This record gives sequence, structure tokens and C-alpha cells, in this order.
Amino acid sequence: MILYASTRDASLAVGFSVALMQGLASDGGLFAPATLPQMAPQEFDGLDSLAAVATRLLTPFVGADPLTAALPGLCAEAFNSPAPLQPLDAQGRLFVLELFHGPTAAFKDFGARFLAACFAGLRSAGPRALTILVATSGDTGAAVASAFFERPHVEVAVLFPKGLVSPTQERQLTCWGSNVRSLAVRGTFDDCQRLVKAAFADPELKRRTTLSSANSINLGRLLPQMSYFAAASLAVWRRYGEPASFVVPSGNLGNALACLLARAAGLPIGEVVLAHNANRTVPDYLQTGTWQPRSSIATLASAMDVGDPSNAERLRALYPDFSDLRGALSACSVGDDQIRARIRTDYQRYGQIWCPHTATAAEAYERLPAARRAAHRWVIVSTAHPAKFPEIVAPLIGRAVPVPQSLANLFARAGSCVEIAPDLSALRAAL
Ligand SMILES: *Cc1c(COP(=O)(O)O)cnc(C)c1O
Repeated sequence: MILYASTRDASLAVGFSVALMQGLASDGGLFAPATLPQMAPQEFDGLDSLAAVATRLLTPFVGADPLTAALPGLCAEAFNSPAPLQPLDAQGRLFVLELFHGPTAAFKDFGARFLAACFAGLRSAGPRALTILVATSGDTGAAVASAFFERPHVEVAVLFPKGLVSPTQERQLTCWGSNVRSLAVRGTFDDCQRLVKAAFADPELKRRTTLSSANSINLGRLLPQMSYFAAASLAVWRRYGEPASFVVPSGNLGNALACLLARAAGLPIGEVVLAHNANRTVPDYLQTGTWQPRSSIATLASAMDVGDPSNAERLRALYPDFSDLRGALSACSVGDDQIRARIRTDYQRYGQIWCPHTATAAEAYERLPAARRAAHRWVIVSTAHPAKFPEIVAPLIGRAVPVPQSLANLFARAGSCVEIAPDLSALRAAL
């Protein structure tokens, strides 16, 4: 059975449910799988739906756990919207994996909904309401708020950097009410993340509340994200007998890590390319070997504005040897001008409307040497629907972006939020 060990102290190992409820390990490290199952593609034969692939894939990861029996139901709930793999050419060499068909139109819906379903399944654990703290650079807050909205015995506080998310994103973060509170922090995303970490370490809050996290640091969001990489790679494998290579728009590295874990567990995945915006901490690390966290820089792909990605700790736990790590993935950095140009060009070329995050991946793909592009079947991962970013996208393509029904429903709701200073006492008071 798989245990989850702290990235800082391997002796702090717990089971799946405990890792979910704790969020962070007691020494401040992140939980990462101590061992990985090995699954051959044939073990997924006959499994076609995303939920069925997810159930098969996650079974060994959950192991013998209070949630074992519930897993098929949890996966059915979390994976009830599709993740279609759309061809971009006639030869089956380039695809886009659309992860934006959930209720808030970004890939984070999958992980957030899985985690919310797990928490609901484990709720009998205590009489006190659970308080979920989440720091967001954009899409996390909306996905988590939507996943937990009006679930009994759960309070959610969403922290976002005031003025650093788009007006449309802000509406998605502040439109909830009921058990979901939105806190506009006067600071950056890194301040929000630091505040969440400080809250977990705070004795006063520990006494008053049962805190849990729903950030991508929580395994309950990270692990289910393996499922769509698995399903997409299996679809390519079944059709062409070759692995699929992915270009993943990356910020805090949760999605990229899910892809790497799926590959390490035996799924037919070839190259993994991380597309970052101007926040170049990871590309620079792969080049220099020195981990140099920075303050985050505001870019058009704001959900990826992370200067100190916390999941890097898990990345190094997965590949303790730097040359292994460097061989396992590559990364590049894409500036705002190139994001804009890519949205324009690909709209003309494919008729595809990219969100700014997806555009970084499309640009990273274009920059690959021709021989590498020709050697693999590539999948550009599309992490959000462009209608979440109309202020950016519409002027570039010269037309309005069609709004899917899911987002139209959110936009119709009234908003409210509380502004706080970027310090722990302000957060304490707000909770
Ligand atoms: C969160 C987010 C990302 C970055 O994902 P990480 O798991 O943090 O690397 C990319 N695109 C969109 C649209 C996002 O919301």
C-alpha cells in the first residue's frame, strides 16, 4: 500500500485520507507518494470514460483507506465533465487536450471537485466545521468555491491578490456567498500563499478552527489530475501505438507534476514540456541547477504568476538527482508579447481561440526543434476557456469570445468580498 511521506522527512508517512485532511505534513513539507504503483497500458483495456480510467488509476494510490470503497463514486462525481482530445492536424501528430468543460471552465475543477467529494466522504471525522483556506492566482479560488459551495459543514475562505486578477476573474472569485468568503489581500499571490502557510502554523487558529487546504499542495487535488493525462495518453496509445508527449502551461507545477507522476506510474507518456510565462524560476533552475525563488511578476497568463512554486519540493522528491530531473522534463518561458502573437496566429491558422495560459503552451510547442516535434505525438494542454479572459483575448482576435453556459451562470451572480492587509492578524480577524 502506498504511503505519503513528507518531502522533508520520509519518516512522517501517512495514508491517503490523512494526507488529504492534513494538507501539509506536520514539519511543513508536502506529502508525496513514498512509492509509485506500476501500471501497464493494458491494465486500462476496456475502460473508456474518464471516470473509469480515473478509478482504475487512483485505486492503488488510495490503497486500503477509509475512502477505498467510495472511490468509484468520487471519480464519477469529479469527472462528470469531459476532457476531449481534439486533433489540430489530419495526421494525428498534434492535439489539444481541453480541460475547461467543468463548472468554472478551468482544469482546476477536476481536482477541486475530487477533493470536495473526498472531504464530504470523510466528514464524519469530526463535529466541527472544516475551514478550507485557499490562496489563488485566479482559477483555483473559483474552482474550489464552486466545488464546496453550499456543502454542509464546510467553510471556505478564498484569498486572492487584490487588483492582480482580471475583472472577469474577480467576478468568478467573489460571486459565491453562503459558506464561501472572498478575501482580497493587498499583496501578491506569493503573499496569499505565505498567509495560508502562516495560518496553518498559527496556534490560535489551530485552537479555534479545523483548517485544511485546497491548494494544489493538497494531494487530493494533485493526484486526480493524473487521470486526464492518463486518459489522453491511452487514447493516443490505442490509436497509434505510440506515447503522447505533453506541453503543460505551468505555474505552481501541480498539473505538470500530475503528468510526471502518471508517466512514472507507467502510463504511455513521452516528453513533458513545461510552458511558463515570464516567471522563469523553473526554466532557470533546469538551466543552472540553482533553485532561485523570486517574487512573482504579473503577466497575461496570471494564473501562472508564481515566482516560488511550492510543488518544486515534490518535483525534487520525485527526482532527487538533478541530472535525472533534467532528463525528465524541459521548460521554457514565454513573454506577454509572444502570448499575444500566439493567440492571434493560431486563431488565424486553426480557428482556435486560446486563453493566455494555453497560448504559452502553444508557443512552447512551436519553439521545439523540428526534429523533436516530428519525433513524437504532441498534446497541447488547454487549461482554461478563453471566455475567462475576454479583456485580453477579444481585442487580439477581433471578435467577442463566445461564453459557455457554465460561465454565463457565474457571471449572472452578484459579488462581494472583504479587503485585508497581507498579514496574519488581518487573516485571523477575517476568519
Ligand atoms: C492554475 C493554472 C495554471 C497553472 O497550473 P499549476 O498546476 O499551478 O502549474 C495554468 N493555467 C490555468 C488556466 C490555471 O488556472
